[in-house]
Amino acid sequence: MQVSGSITVISGPAGVGKGTVVRQLRKLHPEVWVSVSATTRAPRPGEVDGVDYLFRSETEFDQLIASGGMLEWATVHGKHRYGTPSAPVFTVQGEGRPVILEIDLQGARQVRETLPTAQYVFLAPPDWDTLVERLEGRGTESAAQVERRLQTARIELAAAQGEFDRIIVNDVVNRAVAELVDFLGL
Ligand code: 5GP
Repeated sequence: MQVSGSITVISGPAGVGKGTVVRQLRKLHPEVWVSVSATTRAPRPGEVDGVDYLFRSETEFDQLIASGGMLEWATVHGKHRYGTPSAPVFTVQGEGRPVILEIDLQGARQVRETLPTAQYVFLAPPDWDTLVERLEGRGTESAAQVERRLQTARIELAAAQGEFDRIIVNDVVNRAVAELVDFLGL
């Protein structure tokens, strides 16, 4: 019988570098599978449906929830909904591959209810000023959106202690990835 893969939730404030760390992890360990979330937000330039996200209308998102197809979902930054379709997660886990869910704190809390055996990693910035710089420097959000993400970040950073199995500080990407690889036992 095949052994099921692990499920690891990676959370952390917007701008901390979750995407970069996970991309780097996949380069080193292509066997790791990263869940593609559904979202009601519009694609940013260059984002591809089915690759970056499953871009869905409000009605389609409602249907996904109603059909019981979401492992978790949340309204993030007070605006758009994001959620993890369950079926692919369990299919890939059944194949024995490590599964990564890159989701926000609300989502992480929901997954803990359903999957208590999953592991929880919080990616933290080295300090507050670095987070502000990274978020402003990325240039994908308006000033109001940056402010909103910083508000959420303050809440998430305060909650992270005690709620996660490992807090990884993303000071230098390669170092953070190495710590994640070690934590995942890859
Ligand atoms: P962005 O719009 O910048 O791509 O993502 C905004 C936030 O949504 C990120 O901080 C990310 O953690 C969160 N997020 C992305 N996918 C999911 C998901 O499937 N579920 C939940 N709860 N949050 C998600």
